[in-house]
Amino acid sequence: MTSEGTHPVRLPMRIARAAGQFVLDTLFPPSCQLCGAETDRAGLLCIDCFKRLTPINAPFCRKCGHPQPSAAYLNEMGCCAQCERSPPVWNEARGAFLYDKAAKDLILQLKYADRQEHARFLGDKICRVALGVLDQACIVVPVPVHRKRLLKRRYNQAALLAWVVSKQAEAQCLPDALVRVTPTNSLAGFSRQERYRELAEAIVVKPRYKDELAGKNIVLVDDVLTSGATASACTKALKAAGATSVSVLVAALVPGQSDGDLDFPVSGG
Ligand SMILES: [Zn+2]
Ligand SMILES: [Zn+2]
Repeated sequence: MTSEGTHPVRLPMRIARAAGQFVLDTLFPPSCQLCGAETDRAGLLCIDCFKRLTPINAPFCRKCGHPQPSAAYLNEMGCCAQCERSPPVWNEARGAFLYDKAAKDLILQLKYADRQEHARFLGDKICRVALGVLDQACIVVPVPVHRKRLLKRRYNQAALLAWVVSKQAEAQCLPDALVRVTPTNSLAGFSRQERYRELAEAIVVKPRYKDELAGKNIVLVDDVLTSGATASACTKALKAAGATSVSVLVAALVPGQSDGDLDFPVSGG
């Protein structure tokens, strides 16, 4: 930080800004992003809603990000038994919350109800669990959505999160480095193995970014990590382009090993 706080010329501006904020707060009192109850500042959740969230704290597996009952459940590499048996293709993963009711409300509103302001709250929480994964030298890349879905929804929620995360880390963000060349709806009804195979071909790196990604540590950002089929496909594409490592950061992890995949809603979305 510089001496911005004490700069005499900036003082009137700060007073004007504070006065403007006071008027705004009086006219539109800051409210909880989920339930609308009054809060101290804009962009926060009220205490009751915050309590309904389940933040992921240590000990957690560094490979899948899942919380563990105790550190004894992790091997010397910090991996859980599941990841030791079948390690994910990505290097590390972290999730800010478990995907329970409150996290689901936030994420579904971000995804489908145009509540883009949730990206700031969730992106901020993602950064808090990203120690050792996220730094200025890495490149932040969101999980892509197919352009058909982008046209319908107007924005990619993963790209909003990636943007917030990269800003906080002062890292470079390449929002369109990965592209989904096959729409996900066409995969509905496929078995787990078929989805993995189809997705591997559905997600590719844009050729013009290959040089930029080669030799870099990539941080892949998404809203939810479920079965990992999508994150695996993204990781494989990034590693094929020469990325040194790929780590996954998500707002929420779905507890337990689920064969269902939230990345594949059966009917549109
Ligand atoms: Zn609330
Ligand atoms: Zn694990």
